[in-house]
Amino acid sequence: MGIVKSGGVIISAKDSGETSRLVEVFTEQYGLLKVMAKGARRSKSRFGAATEPLTYIHGVYYLKEDSGIASLSAADIVFPFEKIRGDLEKFSYGSAWAEFLLGNLPPGEAQKPLFRQFLMALKTLENVNGDQNEKFFWAYLLKFISLLGFRPEFSICAGCSVVHSKDWMFSVENGRLYCDKCSRSLRDSLFIRLDTGENRVLSAFINSDSDVLSRLTVTRRQMKIVKEVIEGLRKYHTAGDGELKSLNFIHRVSKDNID
Ligand SMILES: [Zn+2]
Repeated sequence: MGIVKSGGVIISAKDSGETSRLVEVFTEQYGLLKVMAKGARRSKSRFGAATEPLTYIHGVYYLKEDSGIASLSAADIVFPFEKIRGDLEKFSYGSAWAEFLLGNLPPGEAQKPLFRQFLMALKTLENVNGDQNEKFFWAYLLKFISLLGFRPEFSICAGCSVVHSKDWMFSVENGRLYCDKCSRSLRDSLFIRLDTGENRVLSAFINSDSDVLSRLTVTRRQMKIVKEVIEGLRKYHTAGDGELKSLNFIHRVSKDNID
């Protein structure tokens, strides 16, 4: 308790009282912190820009013994992620990551590998061309799900260990893959059929970094199945079985494109 310092990303922000802002910060050292930024909405506040969602700050926090809410004593912006914040599609994807993390991070518990992966995700989203946004959103969401303790397996059959099969069945329930032959003897209502290409994309999403992923081509048809698998895993194995509200904008835009 007392004064602590840590890098962190603002993952939610709402107004509090006349001039303050209550934010939730995913910090590297202390995990999720609920923080009151007093006077942050005053025009001359030193906290104004530093408490905007998806801003990477270095903060000094005063943790109080008796309440779950820390107070912000100082904040420097390390990186503002301007391109994400200035682009509705990128901002929707970044906000959906934040929404997912907010629902799944245990408060006050450091999650360093996940924090680093989240920063990498934001840096990637900040820099890639718009046509790559969707691919990276789903790839990093899958990495987050894995780092939260549920790591699916996409490379070998869980029944007989073969690595080659014409078709695969993926079980959302246990996160394992079954070859054509093994899946015939199993009944699982949460099976999703994958071909070798879709399977390879999911494997790359888990195992490859942004550099490798930027060269990975994912067809529209593959993307549809891959999203179904990742959404299945998220809803079945993590908190929040509903839709990610931050993706509403994306859904609306893609519907408009079809009409
Ligand atoms: Zn098998």
